Amino acid sequence: MSTSAPACSIPLPESTIPEAELIARATAARAALGDRLVILGHHYQKHEVIGFADITGDSFLLARRGAEATQADLVVFLGVYFMAEAADILSQPHQRVILPDLGAGCHLAECADIFTVNDAWQQITAQFTDRIIVPLTYMNSGADLKAFVGRNGGAVCTSGNAERAFRWAREQGDMVFFFPDEHLGRNTACRLGMQPDAPVVWDPRKPELGGITADALAASEIVLWKGFCNVHTGFTVRQIDDARAAHPGLTVIVHPECPRPVVEAADEDGSTEYIIRRLDELPPGSAVAIGTDWNLVDRLRIQHPDKTVFCLNEHLCPCVTMNRITLPKLTWILESLAAGEVPNVVKVDDDMARDARLALDRMLAL
Ligand code: SF4
Repeated sequence: MSTSAPACSIPLPESTIPEAELIARATAARAALGDRLVILGHHYQKHEVIGFADITGDSFLLARRGAEATQADLVVFLGVYFMAEAADILSQPHQRVILPDLGAGCHLAECADIFTVNDAWQQITAQFTDRIIVPLTYMNSGADLKAFVGRNGGAVCTSGNAERAFRWAREQGDMVFFFPDEHLGRNTACRLGMQPDAPVVWDPRKPELGGITADALAASEIVLWKGFCNVHTGFTVRQIDDARAAHPGLTVIVHPECPRPVVEAADEDGSTEYIIRRLDELPPGSAVAIGTDWNLVDRLRIQHPDKTVFCLNEHLCPCVTMNRITLPKLTWILESLAAGEVPNVVKVDDDMARDARLALDRMLAL
């Protein structure tokens, strides 16, 4: 069963309500809930809601911190669907995880589903009965894919620990099968000393062996899924060249979900936590172009007035699903919770959660 984000129709406060009134209502509802509630906010969330977060971070950190907030039985996740699922998988039995908009999916996570991944797995394992294939899934994937990986001896990884996870997987077997982000997979393989074209790419739309020849598959140690983030593939080498021409001495930092040529042209690449840390470390007066979602870049610009901070792609379309979490929806959720209703609960099936947790625990043990 797929755990893709379902479409939903939710009652919202009138959009004509002034922002100041929404803030006051959300603040009052949040105060009424006290310690019963913890609000988790991903770095890519809009300014209008991130201020309500008790904890900000990347998806895995937030899921863990939500589970650690044992005084809270209500966990509101300001993020996208797979993140709320992960928070539910790690949650305490008495906690319920709530996503203010159940339609907030993730383009990258939706690039792989359990049916096509399972079909690919059957084809690959049938091809190499004498080899151990280790599945790895990126955090940005459905709970059903994390469970699949858990059942088949693999692990989850984040953009911050992908290199360690790939090393571990290569020690466990003969071939790594990574999904759903081709670009993170290729950038990680390069960090391990491989050539960019060494991994083969499995295209789920191709009928046989994902469009890979049997010889190429046999010669490869890493199979990548043909999936991508539509935000991070919006950055180009041309943008880097233009930014460097306009800002001598510029430092360019991009996320490893960007295509390989962009990562090669940048000065540094790393997870959202890495990017935030580097902005703290760089000296006053630095000019920094960042290749990641606009909401985070704009916040870093505001937080570092002593530096010139800007988004590498000034015409970037922000992550539309992250931006589905708005102040009116958060206000509606908080007022519903304060009134004793618990809408938009994200609940992963118990068996699926158990298997997914295996994969998450293997990541934690790395
Ligand atoms: S920025 Fe990309 S990976 Fe992150 S939630 Fe949006 S679509 Fe998914």
